[in-house]
Amino acid sequence: MRNNNKLLAGIVAGIVAGSLLGGIYPEAGLKVHFIGHLFIKFLMMIVMPLIIAAMISGICRFGDVRKLGPLGFRTIFYYLGTTALSVLTGILLVIIIHPGQFASTTQQIETRGGVVVQDAPYTVTGNTVVIDGVSLSKEYSSSYSIILLDRDISGKITSQHEGNIIEVSTWRKNKNNPVSLTGKGKGIAIDKLPAERFMQEQRGITDILKEVLTGLIPANLFKAMSENDILPVITFSLLLGAVLSTLGEQGKPVIDFFNGLNEAIMKIIHLAMYAAPVGIGALIAGRLGEAGGFTGFLPELLQLGKYALTVITGLMIHSMIILPLILKLFGKTDVGRFAYNTTPALLTAFSTASSSATLPLTVECAEEKNGVSPRTAGFVLPLGATINMDGTALYEAVAVIFIAQMNGITLGPPELTIIFLTATLAAVGAAGIPEAGLVTMVLVLKAVNLPIEGISLILAIDWFLDRCRTTINVWGDSIGAKVIDRYVLRSNHPSR
Ligand code: ASP
Repeated sequence: MRNNNKLLAGIVAGIVAGSLLGGIYPEAGLKVHFIGHLFIKFLMMIVMPLIIAAMISGICRFGDVRKLGPLGFRTIFYYLGTTALSVLTGILLVIIIHPGQFASTTQQIETRGGVVVQDAPYTVTGNTVVIDGVSLSKEYSSSYSIILLDRDISGKITSQHEGNIIEVSTWRKNKNNPVSLTGKGKGIAIDKLPAERFMQEQRGITDILKEVLTGLIPANLFKAMSENDILPVITFSLLLGAVLSTLGEQGKPVIDFFNGLNEAIMKIIHLAMYAAPVGIGALIAGRLGEAGGFTGFLPELLQLGKYALTVITGLMIHSMIILPLILKLFGKTDVGRFAYNTTPALLTAFSTASSSATLPLTVECAEEKNGVSPRTAGFVLPLGATINMDGTALYEAVAVIFIAQMNGITLGPPELTIIFLTATLAAVGAAGIPEAGLVTMVLVLKAVNLPIEGISLILAIDWFLDRCRTTINVWGDSIGAKVIDRYVLRSNHPSR
């Protein structure tokens, strides 16, 4: 208990110090960022051996593998149920708050961090843009498109926007496919495009489903491990654990080995906890440094304030009302104590923006502090880190509807139903890594025919919302482990 107090005090001190350092002295924040990366690497180093050892040793404690079927089924049912509740909260909130006001093309470009200059002389030569004698080529580099506002230019006229804006050509710096543009005139718009990876995202719902299903079986276990691909490793561990438990005497030494390995990994996680205050502080300092400190980040947050507020309010309702109610009713657990015990994992999730990297701490908090049995934690938490993402699902629904609102598109009940279903699925398909939700959101946008470019409206503060939603993802996993352990398993196996 006292150790936990000390650890939490250390982490809070790390967060305060990191925020002040990165917020006030962004340069200094950037310098300490590597310490945070060391922390993430340390956690990632443990993830694969942890999953294998925890799952195999957990499964073998069941005795009878046939009991795994109902457990798996209930776990998936629980995950989908809570994720759906979370999406519903998001949809209701974004409709009530209505954060997105219809914005003209010019306003949208400016919201995305681009510029629109109506009456200034400009020249474009290859990759260099000069407006009023000032070169913009450095500032507006890789992922911007240039929309020229008048006709004095060599290029094809493609479409016409609001009044005098004529989109003559878009120009993107792309190493593989360089487009060279030359021209001069009066008035120019430079629009930030969503990063290439979003433009290229062509997966539909069935693709995601197929991917999740085919992704369950590793073609090569070691490749999956080296790529930190969790789902196939889970399948293999499940299978190996199940088979080992049926082998009797022959399987015993191997099971003992994995039990021992599991204990050792838990000890290594203890060590990682000591590094948490410094690691978390450095990650926050570095990220704030990258965002240009408080003065760089706060204007972005304020510009998208209503949208960010909607996402954060939704996350708070889900995490502070809905999930605690489930924990209280079905997990029969004191919510305050449970939250306190889970805080190290939650703060790690916030600082790393990765459910997978946080997994070691999630397991540690669940088993050591919240009394979840190792067999449930070993099975339920690795699965949760990859497929149970309440925060991501809520965020995707809010973001997509916000993009529709910004474009002046009204969504009716059929579209909202599609968003409800696809956002749930997109969250299942998102990996537990930073900004994975942003990529799978393309599928939700496409399902209701919204412009993928809309993503660039929310890019600026996504790194921050990613941290918030990852925290809720981990909170949802932790509560899920407790509920499934207490309620579902105990009803079957009164003696643990
Ligand atoms: N970063 C999130 C996680 O690891 C996924 C996402 O929403 O981008 O849980």
